[in-house]
Amino acid sequence: MFKNIKAKILKLTSNEIGIDLGTANTLVYVSGRGVIINEPSVVAVNQKTGRVVAVGAQAKAMLGRTPGHIVAVRPIVDGVISDFEVTEEMLSYLIKKAEELSKKMLGPKVVVGVPYGVTNVERRAVRDAARNAGAREVHIIEEPMAAAIGIRLPVREATGSMIVDIGGGTTDIAVISLGGIVRAKNLKVAGDKLNSDIMSYIRNEFKILIGEKTAEDLKIAIASVVEHKPALEAAIRGRDLVTGLPREVIVTDSDIREAIGPSIDTFLESVKEVLETTPPEILADVMRNGIHLAGGGALIRGLPEVLSNYVGIPVHVADDPLTAVARGAGIILEDMEIFDEMLIQNEDELPTRK
Ligand code: ADP
Ligand code: MG
Repeated sequence: MFKNIKAKILKLTSNEIGIDLGTANTLVYVSGRGVIINEPSVVAVNQKTGRVVAVGAQAKAMLGRTPGHIVAVRPIVDGVISDFEVTEEMLSYLIKKAEELSKKMLGPKVVVGVPYGVTNVERRAVRDAARNAGAREVHIIEEPMAAAIGIRLPVREATGSMIVDIGGGTTDIAVISLGGIVRAKNLKVAGDKLNSDIMSYIRNEFKILIGEKTAEDLKIAIASVVEHKPALEAAIRGRDLVTGLPREVIVTDSDIREAIGPSIDTFLESVKEVLETTPPEILADVMRNGIHLAGGGALIRGLPEVLSNYVGIPVHVADDPLTAVARGAGIILEDMEIFDEMLIQNEDELPTRK
């Protein structure tokens, strides 16, 4: 008897999932289980049949390597849905997988993160895609808020917290106090931009064409915004622009630093801009509590130090920065009442934001 009741409660509470629908990676948090899915946001589609061939890591491995009729698509661009049908397919695949992995019934309650400042239309697309993918209830949370909750910043207290989430398509910079976003900025300088900076640099300086994936691997392997001792090096292969033949060159951290320098400057300037308009009391809190970095870009070598020197405020990198938003969505799911006012409830009655 008791056993049954317990089983029922478990079943009810586990029917909730949090989704971080990122430009680069999509993570799924299942209540009581934690983050159980972490896949690149890539879908491979057969254009002849219109069917999805692969989702996630399998599809990412196909990027740039597909035969004519198969295309590998990244359905989320700059943090928002650019291909609605493919996003829906990806979400239903992931929700189904989450349900299989956690062995529970259909129609979960879902919390999805969206970048700060997306439009009503963009938010509605996320909501509709999640509903069509089988979600029973969809709640939307702004990603910087979810990330801050995920790393357990005191977001509901009368103290200022600052979070900078450097993802694939966008960087969200936000100052939070009393459960709301006080100042924020969303910029399109993030991981993908650094990859394209690296591609252009290698093309201009070495006269070699490399693909997006090679650029990203290079960034993760050797990018450093401060001089690295000993120098970091990587061998890359690409097509020689002059001969059209393959060629290998050695690239160093100093090359990458030069390549991404202008984007890093834009990033630093943006954080400074947000600080400049932050009310003084909250600014004092941020100076004391520091700036918290999340997202994959938080792992760029030397970035915390460079940012800290630039703005004169301590900078902390979140533990496991790539899962902060998904963990935040999970914490919200488990305590829906507490976080209720932070969720974006009704598309037609959006609170006006300062
Ligand atoms: P999103 O939320 O937009 O999906 P993520 O927070 O998952 O983005 O971060 C993905 C981005 O972080 C990608 O651009 C990836 O190249 C970058 N990234 C991941 N790990 C590292 C690393 N160690 N160094 C630099 N960049 C990284
Ligand atoms: Mg993200």
